[in-house]
Amino acid sequence: MKLLFERSRPGRGMEYLPACNTPPAEFAPGQLRNAPPRLPELSEVDLDRHYTELGKQTHGVNDGFYPLGSCTMKYNPRVNEALAALPGFSELHPLQPAETVQGALEVLYRTEKLLCEITGMTGMTMQPAAGAHGEYTGLLLIRRYHQSRGDMARTKIIVPDSAHGTNPASAAMAGFTVVSVPSNAQGGVDLDALREAVGPDTAGLMLTNPNTLGLFDPNILEITRIVHEAGGLCYYDGANLNAVMGHARPGNMGFDCVHVNLHKTFSTPHGGGGPGSGPVGCKAFLEQFLPEPRVRCVDGEYRFFTPKHSLGRVRSFYGNFAVVVRALAYILSLGRGGIPEAAENAVLNANYLMNRLAGHYDMACGHSSCMHEFVIDLSRLKAETGVTAMDVAKRLLDFGIHPPTMYFPLIVHEALMVEPTETESPETLDKAAELFLQIWQEAHDDPELLHTAPHTTPIGRPDEVAAARKPVVRYSFES
Ligand SMILES: *Cc1c(COP(=O)(O)O)cnc(C)c1O
Repeated sequence: MKLLFERSRPGRGMEYLPACNTPPAEFAPGQLRNAPPRLPELSEVDLDRHYTELGKQTHGVNDGFYPLGSCTMKYNPRVNEALAALPGFSELHPLQPAETVQGALEVLYRTEKLLCEITGMTGMTMQPAAGAHGEYTGLLLIRRYHQSRGDMARTKIIVPDSAHGTNPASAAMAGFTVVSVPSNAQGGVDLDALREAVGPDTAGLMLTNPNTLGLFDPNILEITRIVHEAGGLCYYDGANLNAVMGHARPGNMGFDCVHVNLHKTFSTPHGGGGPGSGPVGCKAFLEQFLPEPRVRCVDGEYRFFTPKHSLGRVRSFYGNFAVVVRALAYILSLGRGGIPEAAENAVLNANYLMNRLAGHYDMACGHSSCMHEFVIDLSRLKAETGVTAMDVAKRLLDFGIHPPTMYFPLIVHEALMVEPTETESPETLDKAAELFLQIWQEAHDDPELLHTAPHTTPIGRPDEVAAARKPVVRYSFES
């Protein structure tokens, strides 16, 4: 499609305003541009059509099924958008005195309390802007804890090999060395390897449960016990909380601190880079280190305060506030009954789809049941037909389905990670299952059709490495 600059025609525009009668200000010569900025000149209708066309180039939850594993791309209620846009929230200034923004502080305070209840923690910071940012913040808490006890030898963070890539990256950013522990044949943490890995240099463990294979680790209490006995702390990556919220709490599994991806579990449309929010919760003994400012309620009045040994700020102001408003609206509207029910339906939908595919597709680690997502292992299909996970993912686009997460977790070769979420109907799941099975048949009958897919989208197979490493995000004028 044409860019705005290519649609531009000199002199065209949409000036509705009367001519300005304010005399122009005087500027020193050095303060002025040499030439006017080269802004595109278009009529309003052309501008509108440009953005509508742009919107049609992409696939959102509103376009069709979006089973992107590990990301929880559920449909988010529109009413939450309306609430986040209320002028009393959206038109605040972050430097307003606390007494003029009591409602906003109440939102932060109540959301913190509810998330603490859901995760089994006692205190929380709303500052981190995403899950990965929360991981980094949680690891700083763990570092502060060991330092405060004068225990400087704890420099290692243990991460299972099924972990999301942000886990080792955050640990490295927080100054730790990463120790990887392998998974066992069932896809959980190998307990013997974990026992081998822990020691006086263990600062902590990072784990997501259910893990990235969509499996709840039945040894979770033993895992956190092993780490605690060695003197380390346990960090819960809450990206998969959608599977267990209202049923199981990281705090009860033995975790000391957690992050929650509000944009995944608690309703904010995301993808393409944001917005996100990754509040970090912790048990009482870590609260003194939490970032500032936090909010407390004294005699019915909400006030900011700084924890005693706060590690400072990890972000400006109070985090992505509008995401917190949506999360509070979501939690309050679902309530005590709806939160666990959403988790149950997410797990039910994943198991339903998995079992409809299981006769043809192999599941990672041979599993016949899963939590909120499942991982298809396409190694056998590739060996038999030459069709890869990438080919299947691309073919799904032809049918208006967003591809599942591909080639992750890394421990499964030719992985497709499918997370239907609780918001999909049985009809959508049945349709998706039929298409997956049709693609299976095509792989055997006409593999070339899949190697060259997609055939119906504006863009087929871009050079993904170049797109990530050398993105062209700026128009270059010919002159
Ligand atoms: C999404 C995700 C993260 C990172 O969260 P962001 O909000 O994308 O930074 C970490 N771990 C797992 C398992 C995830 O799925």
